[in-house]
This record gives sequence, structure tokens and C-alpha cells, in this order.
Amino acid sequence: MSSNGFVSLVGAGPGDPSLFTVGGVARMAAADVVLYDRLANAALLRHARKDADLIYAGKMPDRHTMTQDEINALLVEKARAGERVVRLKGGDPFVFGRGGEEAEALAAAGIPFEVLPGVTSAIAAPAYAGIPVTHRGIASSFAVVTAHGAGQQTADSRQQGSDDETAALDWAAIAHGADTLVFLMGVGSLGEIAARLIEHGRAADTPVAVIEWGTHPRQRTVASTLAHIADDAREAGVQAPAVTVVGEVARLRERLRWFDARPLSGRRVLVTRTREQASELSRLLEEQGAEAIELPTIEIVETAEQSLVDAAVEELRTSSFQWVIFTSPNAISIFMRHVRERGHDARAFGRAQIAAVGPGTAAALAREGLVADLVPAAYAQEGLLDAFEGRVLQGARILLPRAEDARDNVIDGLEAKGARIDELVLYRAAVPPDRDSEGLHLLREGSFDIVTFTSSSAVRNLIEMLDGDLAPLRRTRIAAIGPVTADAVRAAGLEVGVMASEYTIAGLVAAIVEGAP
Ligand code: SAH
Repeated sequence: MSSNGFVSLVGAGPGDPSLFTVGGVARMAAADVVLYDRLANAALLRHARKDADLIYAGKMPDRHTMTQDEINALLVEKARAGERVVRLKGGDPFVFGRGGEEAEALAAAGIPFEVLPGVTSAIAAPAYAGIPVTHRGIASSFAVVTAHGAGQQTADSRQQGSDDETAALDWAAIAHGADTLVFLMGVGSLGEIAARLIEHGRAADTPVAVIEWGTHPRQRTVASTLAHIADDAREAGVQAPAVTVVGEVARLRERLRWFDARPLSGRRVLVTRTREQASELSRLLEEQGAEAIELPTIEIVETAEQSLVDAAVEELRTSSFQWVIFTSPNAISIFMRHVRERGHDARAFGRAQIAAVGPGTAAALAREGLVADLVPAAYAQEGLLDAFEGRVLQGARILLPRAEDARDNVIDGLEAKGARIDELVLYRAAVPPDRDSEGLHLLREGSFDIVTFTSSSAVRNLIEMLDGDLAPLRRTRIAAIGPVTADAVRAAGLEVGVMASEYTIAGLVAAIVEGAP
């Protein structure tokens, strides 16, 4: 047995990736093997190394994919093989997570392990619904109880010594044991739970809230009373996973509701940017409460010819260019990588001035430690030409590192002013080959409220990815970052529902929020 084998039982939190712990992130980054459950948000897997072995050990309500014994055995086996194992479990591993059983198996096998607690859904789901489990003057205690199987419990099963956990529940004690009761699992047993609590002296009008998919963008809350919660939850179609909060604190939601009161709560928005660029838009949308789903419609394929790049970088360093114009963040990151690969840094620009087509491109320059000398007020290539108005370009040499098939307006306009343009083609924006992504399926199903476009090529490429079928895009609102993108939408025969007034990612999100019904 190798001495390195080690298991971390890590709490994944209730769903919102920002509730994952710093320790969890570190353990994931170090893991050779990650065993994860259905309730551990798959988004956390991005913290794992690319070469880590990711094993799904989830249990579906209908069909067991791996038994608990198999999971225990696998943990022991991987650790014995010398692997660093992360066992990622929804919420907190020791709150109804069977983490205790896994720890027992590891202890029995002599495998070293640690436990990293996580944020439990028992507290976090109520919190995201605006319900504090304790509150001064209202509730000074709370209990977390499993509701699993309460509904199936019969006199028979009790007599036969059922292994049903709730068979052992002392309902009289639970009803009076704590001010706030939080039930996990068993949404189907709400009627039984309510009946027993009322039977044991809890008032029928006690406030109750059931929170489905707590802390996830699709979180939903049904608020009611003990007398009516079963009917109300059934009517609303509440399904697992859900927690049920019983007690006066549930009433505080009326005043403290926040997560699902944000402007874009419950809205599903498609983000069509490249994988590298999508995150900022997704984050800003999520901040407003939306569920952002990324479907990259552009794949950057580098096409630069080495000898041409060599020559351009050399001429830049020897101050042959008066200007360098960047019309996309992609051009900046690729160009700067070429500069670094040749052993240079930002000083390669020497005395050349730098222009950026808009604020996003200027921000990309700033990330490279470069300040744009010229950023047009109106964000579009025409704005760039206007911005050069009044500057002497006669005989000036301008380097234009950019994409293949980029629009020629800039070149024509600058040449008309007497400049000499050296175009340096760095990449091609291609249509991604993947036609089987979640985003595309959801779009075909019509489950997006809004589809966002931040470039005209994203519009054209998405339509190509839909094999020319415009129907899915007619069923949703289309948001465009600016006039050029909006024109591309209309040219495709579609309607623009939202257009940013400031042509930036933040401007796009602001316009979507403003236009949200
Ligand atoms: N260890 C987990 C609980 C595992 S038991 C924790 O600490 O949260 C599984 C039950 O947890 C589900 O049936 C449901 O009642 C609850 N649960 C887990 N994640 C949830 C979520 N995001 N929203 C609501 N309930 C959740």
C-alpha cells in the first residue's frame, strides 16, 4: 500500500457554487480522484485537475447507480492505490449524507481521512428563501429531521421492525423539541408530517415553507400553513430536493425574501460568447438572479503565420508603427502571447500608440498592463474611424492584428486618411463542432427566456448550429449588445427584443434588467 492514499470527505454545499468552501477548492485541485453525488453541483468539478478521474456515484431516486457499500469499497480501493481522493457530497457530509458511514469504512480499513464540513441545505435553503432558522424573540432553537419515508410508514412496517428511519421518530418529542423544525427528504410525506405535528399539539396555522432546489437559480418556495402545506406543495408540483421549514420563522420570508426577488430571478438566459469570454456575462446575469447557461457559438482557431507575426513584432519593437489598433479582446490575448513567446513584453510597443475599438477591448489591454491611447465614445468600428478624426494619419503605419474575414470598413476608412495598414491575421472565429450541448437542447425545447448576442458572428453561428431552424429563436427574447449585432439579428429575419444603450457587457445586462417584465 502506498503511503500517499488519503480521502477527504468534502461538503459541496447546497448548490450555489459560491457556497463551496475555500478548503474544498484546495482539496479538489489536489485530487487524483473525485467521487461526486447528484446533489453536489457539477459546476464544482471545474475545480478538479483536468487529468483527475471524475466518478459519478450519485443515487437516483428511481435507480441506484452505485450502492453505499460499493461507494465505501471504491473509496478504500482508490486510497489503497495511493490516490488522493475527494469524496464530494451535497451540503454537509455529516448531515444525512451518509458521510459518517463512509468515514467508518475508511477508519475500519485504516485509511487516513479528513472531513471538510459544507454549508448544509438545512440552513442555506431557508436562508435563500429569506427564512432565518433562529430569530430573536421568535425561535431560539431548531432541529433538523429526516422526513424520508414518513408517508409510507404503516402500523405493519412498525411492527415488523422496518428499517425506515422515521419509524423510530418520536413525533411527540419532535413536535415540541425545537421552535423551528427543518425536514430534509421525503417531500411526498408532507401530509403525514403535518398531520403528526398537529396531532402532537402544533397549531394548524403554524407557518410552513417548502424550498425546492434551494440556492440554485431555479429555487422555488411554497409558503403555507401546517393545515394546507401538503395540498399546496402538491398543487405547485414541488419535487425533491426540497427542505421544509416549520415554525413562526417561516413568516419572516414576507419581509426578508431576497434571492427570488431579484430582477432576473427565475429567468433562464443563454450566453453565446466563447467559453473564455462567457464568464463575465454569466456572472453579471447571475448577480441579477438569472440562470445563465453558456453555449459557446464561437471557437477561436488560431491561424497566424509565424513568419508574419515575427516580422510584425520586430517592426513594432523598432518603432516602425505609429499606431496599433485592436478590434477585439481575442486579438489582444493572442498577440500578447506571441509577443511573450518571442521573449518580449509590453515594452515591445515602444512609442506606438494603441487604439481599442471599445471599452471591453480597452479592459483587455489593461489586463496586459497597457493603457489605450484612444477609445472611441461610440462602440463600433465606425466610432473608431470617427475617433481618428482630426488626427494626422498621412503616411502613418498602422498595425492591425485581428481576425480573418474581419470587416474592411476600418482599413478603407484609415487608408482614405492616408494611413498604411499592415493587417496581421491572428485567428479565425469558427463554428464549434459540438451540436449536442445542454444549451442547444434547452434552446430547441424553448426553455430560454432570453438569448444574448455580443457579436454578429455569434448570431450567424448559432443559426448554423440550429441547422438554419429559426423557430427556437422566435420563441425567446433576443438581446443584442449593440447596433451591429442587432443588425445581424434582423438580417437573419429575427426580432431584437432588447438592445444595450451602452455597448458593453454591463450595458447589455442593464438593458436586460430594465426590459424584464
Ligand atoms: N448532506 C445534505 C443532505 C443530504 S440528504 C445537506 O447537508 O444538505 C438529501 C436531502 O437534502 C434532499 O432530499 C433535500 O431534502 C435536501 N437538500 C439537499 N440539497 C438541497 C437543495 N439545494 N435545496 C433543497 N433541499 C436540498
